[in-house]
Amino acid sequence: MPEPVVEKTCEALCRSLVAHNGLQPESADISRSVVYTSLMGLLLVADKKADIPLGSGQVGLRNIGNTCFLNAVVQCLSHTRGLRDYCLTKAYLQEKHSKQEPVLMNAFTHVLSGLWDVQGQDCVNPGRFYSAFKDAVPYFSGYSQQDAQEFLRFLLDRLHTEINRRPAKCPPSETTETKHKTIRLAEQAAAMWKKHLERDDSRIVDLFSGQLRSSLHCSVCSHYSNTFDVFCDLSLPIPKRSGDTVSLKECLDLFSQVEKLDAENAPLCERCRRRTESTKRLTIQRFPKVIVIHLNRFTTSRYSISKSTVCVTFPINHLDLGPYGPVDCGPVLYKLYAVCYHSGTVNMGHYTACCRDEDGWWYYNDSSVQQVPEDQLQSSQAYVLFYQLDSNAIRK
Ligand SMILES: [Zn+2]
Repeated sequence: MPEPVVEKTCEALCRSLVAHNGLQPESADISRSVVYTSLMGLLLVADKKADIPLGSGQVGLRNIGNTCFLNAVVQCLSHTRGLRDYCLTKAYLQEKHSKQEPVLMNAFTHVLSGLWDVQGQDCVNPGRFYSAFKDAVPYFSGYSQQDAQEFLRFLLDRLHTEINRRPAKCPPSETTETKHKTIRLAEQAAAMWKKHLERDDSRIVDLFSGQLRSSLHCSVCSHYSNTFDVFCDLSLPIPKRSGDTVSLKECLDLFSQVEKLDAENAPLCERCRRRTESTKRLTIQRFPKVIVIHLNRFTTSRYSISKSTVCVTFPINHLDLGPYGPVDCGPVLYKLYAVCYHSGTVNMGHYTACCRDEDGWWYYNDSSVQQVPEDQLQSSQAYVLFYQLDSNAIRK
């Protein structure tokens, strides 16, 4: 078993770099921080268990007034191991660039510490964390029911800002070479990704960020052009048809299907230099370690918001996103580890979560926690799905 030795060595090196050299991003010279970052990368790849004593995590969160949206999302994030361990070890204090106190990250970590307390608390009060969140995102003040997906996006964005390894204002580097048309697609995508990491690089990015490719094909001159965008979740449309059950695959197919754009709605063709009839397709260029899939149940029309109650069935152990990736990328397998549910109507709803641990699946309904059989996960209330890349399953 040579692996633990390597892990231990890396860890010890990291620790001594931090402890003895007083390694702070502000004071570190480039070579040291490069070494440090590479070592942290190795640790991340090794996906080792944190050296911290953990409770069961089967602990509820108190509802402090319409906060079920927050409770459900926090339970899902609390079961995102790469994030949980990063918080509990407070590794972000060493990695973050900003000198400002990471108020929200500390408050979030405080909640996770309660949920994973070895003593096994009865129930955790998320009040301090919610206050810190509302200070960071005033839009969420007030007592009305909030959308869990919106909350998740804001939360990850604010946490990222606090623990970013890059300075807040970093001038974008010039990547003129990408403008040459001859450059290969993969190189173009990689250059865009590198540029993103120059400004935005954190554990949130390590875990949740991927890259979407939008390819545009002009039907007049056959010119192809690509744009790449960073994403932190996939928001999928639910196909409208008379049946009461659709599959996640059908939602993904709809998301990634070739879309016809008539000349008025299409962007300018680079070659024709005018708007032409075109087709557009979205694919995943770079797969994140954790993919958050939002089933877009709410449709906003001119006068109202309506909710789709179609049951979307989803795979639990083998979600293959390969067909939505680059050509010939082979199977890309993900494993489900958390689901956020929304029951009720647009205005009177309730959020709950199911999360997986070594003992199976647990149903988190605010302060109550109970075991749930895997075959009861599928429901017309499933709203946000959390999948982890199954690195053991990658066979190229
Ligand atoms: Zn054209």
